[in-house]
Amino acid sequence: MRRVMVTVACLTAVAAWSGAVYAGDCAGCAVIKKDGQGYCDHCGSGKIYGLKVASRKLYDALAGEEGKIDDLKKSPCSGCKTAAAKSGDCAHCKVFVANDRIYHSGTARALARGERVDAHGLECKRCAYAAGKSGSCKACDKHFAADRSYKTASFHEAALKAYETVKQAVRDASHCENCAVARVADGTCKDCKVAFKNGKPVS
Ligand SMILES: [Zn+2]
Ligand SMILES: [Zn+2]
Ligand SMILES: [Zn+2]
Ligand SMILES: [Zn+2]
Repeated sequence: MRRVMVTVACLTAVAAWSGAVYAGDCAGCAVIKKDGQGYCDHCGSGKIYGLKVASRKLYDALAGEEGKIDDLKKSPCSGCKTAAAKSGDCAHCKVFVANDRIYHSGTARALARGERVDAHGLECKRCAYAAGKSGSCKACDKHFAADRSYKTASFHEAALKAYETVKQAVRDASHCENCAVARVADGTCKDCKVAFKNGKPVS
């Protein structure tokens, strides 16, 4: 009888714990829900560009670094200095800038150049339609990809390509996080000995 009681108590505890997670009571996940973006270390899952990402490393590569732009402006590398001042990039250092955030991935930066939009809050019907299909509204000259809107057709084109690369990286992450990061950063996964260029494996 006593053993039965213990088992029941354990089951109840497990149910209460998983119930809390599934009810969305996790503080980390609540922040993601509020901001539309973020990573919860407790649950090992995050969200960015409307995609579910189950790798902290990939999330960080996509989210970029905040608060370091002033340091970059003082960089001894002239390419980095210009990149910081003009939201450009330094190919030599693999540094890409958008909206005062620093990325080490051209793919991440291409997506970061957009502004987040709430598809349901768009007043123009053509914009709303375009937002749902990662298309453009010619009348408003707005271009949509993922959960963002891009100012120019060329930014849009780059963002669409980057979005496909990120979706592939999310799939990579399920078997190798380093491959996922290498794919978005044109790097190499030393574990799998795969090099990536323009978001595709080259070896
Ligand atoms: Zn969580
Ligand atoms: Zn540099
Ligand atoms: Zn429109
Ligand atoms: Zn790998």
